[in-house]
Amino acid sequence: MRVWGLRLWWIVVLGAVWPVAALSDPAGIGDPYFPLMGNSGYDVLHYDIELDVALAQQTVRAVVTIDLQALATLEQFHLDFSGPEISALEVNGAPAAFERRAGELVVTPVRPILSTEQAQVRVRYAGRFQADQRDGFGAGWQHYPTGVFVASQPDGAATWFPSNDHPLDKATFTFTIRVPAGNLAAANGVLIDTRYEPTAATYVWHMAQPMATYLATVNITDFVVVESQSVGGVPIRNYFPTESAPRLEEIFEVQAAMLDFYESLIGPYPFDVYGAVVARANFPFALETQTLSLFPRDIARIPRPTVNDIIAHEMVHQWFGNSVSVQHWRDIWLNEGFATYFAALWVEHTDGPAAFQRLMENYYAMISQPGDQQREVRIGDPGAQQLFHGLVYVRGAWTLHALRQLLGDEVFFRAIREYYQRYAYGNASIADFIASVEATSGLDLGAFFRQWLYEPRTPTVRFSS
Ligand SMILES: [Zn+2]
Repeated sequence: MRVWGLRLWWIVVLGAVWPVAALSDPAGIGDPYFPLMGNSGYDVLHYDIELDVALAQQTVRAVVTIDLQALATLEQFHLDFSGPEISALEVNGAPAAFERRAGELVVTPVRPILSTEQAQVRVRYAGRFQADQRDGFGAGWQHYPTGVFVASQPDGAATWFPSNDHPLDKATFTFTIRVPAGNLAAANGVLIDTRYEPTAATYVWHMAQPMATYLATVNITDFVVVESQSVGGVPIRNYFPTESAPRLEEIFEVQAAMLDFYESLIGPYPFDVYGAVVARANFPFALETQTLSLFPRDIARIPRPTVNDIIAHEMVHQWFGNSVSVQHWRDIWLNEGFATYFAALWVEHTDGPAAFQRLMENYYAMISQPGDQQREVRIGDPGAQQLFHGLVYVRGAWTLHALRQLLGDEVFFRAIREYYQRYAYGNASIADFIASVEATSGLDLGAFFRQWLYEPRTPTVRFSS
């Protein structure tokens, strides 16, 4: 996610609590920041999400089918779900008892699921679009006069589909979305089928690589589709509101060259397709929804180089955040510090070392101003309320720049590529990253990372690159 506007960029919420979940709690997966996020006892293999969307009524009818592998014998298990009323719930085709407690959906199948078994859970529900506005970004279905979009980082997925809502349990997805005629539904992955009726159209999307639940998205309005391809062969499809399509086509043309650049730095693009979706609505962030990054309408009015920085940031997340996901949310630096730094590397690549150095100097000025609370955030463990604090991004980027200065370009970029390769399509913690860089470089980097990630004082740096 890339947030803009001073108020949100530097948002500071004091008094964060530090709850701890018991490891075997079926209501949580063990994330210290979000004890009820995710669940234990099983691994979701696939989500099949069928949606029948009535845009004018702002309602959706849903059938969600979840294929899961049990990891323990389950007499009862939890899903995360805070969406509308459920009309039916089945496990392996048989109606199952269920109970809803706050955001937890507690399911009791007619017979226990054995630890070696796979099972299929089907949930039917219908209701109005629901958006959870508690953190100022909104989560879940967000409606505007001519359409709707979905954004869910970090814990909004459970507002629109029952899930094991944590990046530790990634799965493949299929979306079958029926919308009123004249609209188009864009979701993650590859569009594999389109069916037309006189008054409706159905779009079927398949996300073949594992995806964290918060990266799932559905976007509906009368989009124009603009297709292209990177030199390296990654298909690009962009979904733009009709009236701003020509301007947006110009702005997003840079994606092709960026894909080639990041493939050369990090490794092959992880998914089958990439692109942007621009909503006909304004919000102060962009989000790296997998294979289809989400942008607000006003992206068309943001001048270069800022707009390139935002486009690059969400693209870099496809490698760092989406392919390599956080293990727990406290590892957010592995997403945001990396996306910020690699977006800056695009400036180095296109505008040269002097422009890059000026940018890094500006970033350093942002993180080294004395006398305010900004330094109280430990970017390696910022707390649930400060996941998207500006320091996680900017000091996070400087942490990588300082590491590059320490290791030299050859070892630094080799360490990045080896780390990426090791954890692609999985999860990594900050400790995993440090261990991986130590393995590549042969150095003990404990003191370096302690200073940059866990100590309040901004380390002193030199300004050569
Ligand atoms: Zn981001």
